[in-house]
Amino acid sequence: MVLHTMETAKATEVRPTRTLLDQLEDAGLLLRTGVDGLYIRTAAYQEVADGIDAMVSRWAATLHATRLHMPPLIPRTSFERTNYLESFPDLMGSVHVFAGGEVEHRQLLQRATRGHPWSELLQPSELMLEPAVCHGVYPLCARRPGSGPWLFDVSGHCFRSEPSKEPTRLQSFLMHEVVYVGEAAGAEAHRDMALDRGQALLESLGLEVAAVPASDPFFGRVGNVLAASQLDEQLKTELVAEVPGNSRPTALLSANYHRDHFGRSFGIETTVGELAHSACVGFGVDRIAIALLATQGLDPSRWAPSLRSLLRL
Ligand code: AMP
Ligand code: ZN
Repeated sequence: MVLHTMETAKATEVRPTRTLLDQLEDAGLLLRTGVDGLYIRTAAYQEVADGIDAMVSRWAATLHATRLHMPPLIPRTSFERTNYLESFPDLMGSVHVFAGGEVEHRQLLQRATRGHPWSELLQPSELMLEPAVCHGVYPLCARRPGSGPWLFDVSGHCFRSEPSKEPTRLQSFLMHEVVYVGEAAGAEAHRDMALDRGQALLESLGLEVAAVPASDPFFGRVGNVLAASQLDEQLKTELVAEVPGNSRPTALLSANYHRDHFGRSFGIETTVGELAHSACVGFGVDRIAIALLATQGLDPSRWAPSLRSLLRL
């Protein structure tokens, strides 16, 4: 019996000599692509991520939120209405396509075969990479003036240009958000309720999280001022956890009150014709999956039955 317990501990323990990313790869969970922050998910990993996604959706269904699956891309025109260009230019990504004729095609191939840069022969398309899944819902609300308040349960792949060796900081990652758009009081209440509920969900998985006031990584000197005022006004709270192998506590979830920022820039009206306020609670699905793997062991088939059943594994 003692031997069995030791064997179990050995099989699931996170070995200190290998980085967390090495261990996730050794365990057949994430596969490197050669680019930091871009990994291929195996079925074993994706099952855990899907379990987290489904758990969030089960809760959102009790709120009668509209379930949407976001594409990883957003129209450039919508992107321009978010604050990304002003505040996070260093994180954004654009889709460029080939729009030339045969002459340009020959040039492209010539450059590529010679190992010369060729991407400058591509043209910006009407698409940007989606940095946060909630951005997709605001244009939907703007098209239906006066029909709110709206509650959405949205998930999808996000892109942020922030390469890192830490597997919890990805360039392509899964985000799941529960988003309210409507009256100011409703938005604040949603932010508070969803933060509490999010914390309860994470704790039910055995994750130890702490709520901390936070700010977004705004760009440049103006960004410092924006970050300070976001902190000051307590607009963003993160639930952070210690993930073995990470240098700092990692945000697994963020709760944000945007005031009328998106209402104003997308032109969203409430039922009484005022500018809509919004709030979103974003679960970092990959971060939660990796935090579980790093703390509960790298083999989900050996996780406690209670945890497996919560994730329907
Ligand atoms: P944010 O919009 O920055 O508040 O992000 C919402 C949630 O997505 C965060 O709380 C994280 O859990 C997750 N997240 C943000 N950036 C990344 C990233 N680079 N890699 C993985 N997860 C992320
Ligand atoms: Zn959001």
